[in-house]
Amino acid sequence: MSHVFTPPAVVSVPVAGGGGEFPVHRIYCVGRNYAEHAVEMGFSGREPPFFFMKPADAVVSVADGETGTIAYPSLTADLHHEIELVVAIGRGGSDIAVADAASHIWGYAVGLDMTRRDLQAQAKKQGRPWCIAKGYDQSAPIGPIRPIAQTGELASGEISLAVNGQPRQRGDLKDLIWNVSETIAAISAAWKLQPGDLIYTGTPAGVGAVQRGDVMLGAIAGLGTLSVAVR
Ligand code: MN
Repeated sequence: MSHVFTPPAVVSVPVAGGGGEFPVHRIYCVGRNYAEHAVEMGFSGREPPFFFMKPADAVVSVADGETGTIAYPSLTADLHHEIELVVAIGRGGSDIAVADAASHIWGYAVGLDMTRRDLQAQAKKQGRPWCIAKGYDQSAPIGPIRPIAQTGELASGEISLAVNGQPRQRGDLKDLIWNVSETIAAISAAWKLQPGDLIYTGTPAGVGAVQRGDVMLGAIAGLGTLSVAVR
């Protein structure tokens, strides 16, 4: 059977150190997963985890030592940064047990869940979907994926973001409300996880706006940095 037009290329993220390309299937994201960020967004406590998605082709891959570029998106005047640990799934499954979840991880990366915050606020107020606020084009910058075989399982370590050299966000992976294993278990109860799925695990406190010309520098202990300019 022939396609009626050329299919789009497979979206992929480079593996650090020239280790090939990680093909992306879906991008899952966790909402409000650090207590201090939940508070700054007007919530508190350990509410059940909730999820949204970005299209796979929202990925903007940035190589080690380089500064990637994203365009300031249309329809917003309040583009926010959210620095996040990204988990790359290597083995799929449904109803994965928390105790088995780590064995489904292929690796990790530093990612940015870029957000049209004004459109998200409108959507929340009107009870509408978040797609236009969270799943727009180029909304998922990401650094190289580092294999868990090299990093070990990441359960703690600093996660931070600076804009133009000024500190904005700071947290620790150990302060995730729903840790990575619990998150994998919860997502796999709702969808069948597949090899190639990426999970943006939530952002620590300190989210804020960026403007054209700003450069964001995110970092996670053990995973290096992610540098992205807004043009
Ligand atoms: Mn987020």
